[in-house]
Amino acid sequence: MKFRLTRNVFTDLAIWMVGLGLLMGIAFPLLVIAMGIPSYLVLTPWFFASSIGAGMLVGAANVGLARVVVCRPLRLLGERMRFITDNLKEVSQDGDLGDCSSDQCFLDCDSDDEIGESGKAFNHLVEELSQALETQRAVKAFTEMLSSHLELDPLTDQALEQLLRHTGAGGGVLLIENDGDMRVTASMGLRSATGLASSDHVRRALRTGTGQMLDLPEDITLEGVLTDFRPRQVIVMPVLYKQVPLGVIVLATAQTFSDDQRKRLDLLQQGLALALHNALVHDRLQRLAALDPLTGIFNRRFGMARLHEEFSRSIRVSSPLGILMFDLDHFKKVNDTYGHLAGDRVLVQVIRVARLVVREGDILVRYGGEEFLAILPGATKEDAAKIGERLLRMVEETSIADGHQNIKVTVSIGVSAYPEMDAKEPNDLVRDADQAMYKAKESGRNRLIVA
Ligand code: GH3
Ligand code: MG
Ligand code: MG
Repeated sequence: MKFRLTRNVFTDLAIWMVGLGLLMGIAFPLLVIAMGIPSYLVLTPWFFASSIGAGMLVGAANVGLARVVVCRPLRLLGERMRFITDNLKEVSQDGDLGDCSSDQCFLDCDSDDEIGESGKAFNHLVEELSQALETQRAVKAFTEMLSSHLELDPLTDQALEQLLRHTGAGGGVLLIENDGDMRVTASMGLRSATGLASSDHVRRALRTGTGQMLDLPEDITLEGVLTDFRPRQVIVMPVLYKQVPLGVIVLATAQTFSDDQRKRLDLLQQGLALALHNALVHDRLQRLAALDPLTGIFNRRFGMARLHEEFSRSIRVSSPLGILMFDLDHFKKVNDTYGHLAGDRVLVQVIRVARLVVREGDILVRYGGEEFLAILPGATKEDAAKIGERLLRMVEETSIADGHQNIKVTVSIGVSAYPEMDAKEPNDLVRDADQAMYKAKESGRNRLIVA
């Protein structure tokens, strides 16, 4: 029901109070007569005037008091609201509501009435707003970070760092499943994180696609400054892309996770899932473009690009670069005798042997059908020849099972190296190694010739 006289509540109140005072002033003399005071004393203009004057004065005093008592807290509420509103304009830029723990934003609620209730409701509103803005800011920063990385490892490192920051966790691990293999791609503040890949909690999260909250788990340890300790709560959460789990987030805290932090994690997880999916696709495409599907080593195009890089590096830092060119002997006969599939298995097995022979950082390339290059950074011609000899012996000693029979193959190898050979460009090295390999073929196969 609207019961308004003017547009100002205090003017309304003044009219009502002074009006009531006026009525009281008029009614008072009659009340006095009813109480037995002689009417000639009461029914005088002076008595009426004083009675009305007193009544209106009390009304006016009430209005003044109401203004002082009620107006001040209301004005304060208005001021705070204005402050928040002004800040909100800036918030849209940086997402921060400023220092809201200070008495600039919150009200002192010391009365148990509607004004006190309004104050509490206002404070609650500011708190919620502050949390919502904080979440918005976290999601914005997280999304920006995610969109600036396409490679899996830097992406997961940064993502985990931000997840810890935005959830208040003391440590965590990000695990990614790739081709049935669970791998820790980022880890911070957790002891023996690699063991988590085989933990029941992680496997369950990945299998069921649902997260869980663990209280005081025994198999997870947080790294402390002085000593390691058990976390109070651990969240194990799958990263779901279109309902398919790509990996698992494990976050541990020494305190407990609040509802807000958990909700925030849920939101961040969704962005992370999309970014992880993109990174995994990118990774797969890179590998598809660079690797030979049968043997898993570099294909010719990428292998030659790597050779160019290594050759430039060798010149730049004046370090040697060895090259082996090897080709399977009479491989056509292997195919003709055992079939193409058996031939494929032989190629895979020879490369497995070659992987054992070369060092980490050496590069194997499928140069042609059954012709391969081994790029050996840092290897002199002599080193390369030694590695080649070892490859020759190991291939010779290997037998590849095909049903009831064993297939034996040999290789012929040509060696060249920079700076021993006068190579102007990497193709010169390859050509020399190729010519040496053909000499090896001509002089009986299963041998190595140095260019
Ligand atoms: P050489 O000792 O002179 O090298 O004789 P070779 O029989 O190995 O040489 P050739 O170049 O005549 O034959 C190479 C054979 O390798 C022919 C081709 O069918 C086979 N080959 C090439 N790529 C593959 C492959 O991916 N899988 C299989 N199974 N065979 C392949
Ligand atoms: Mg051959
Ligand atoms: Mg060949």
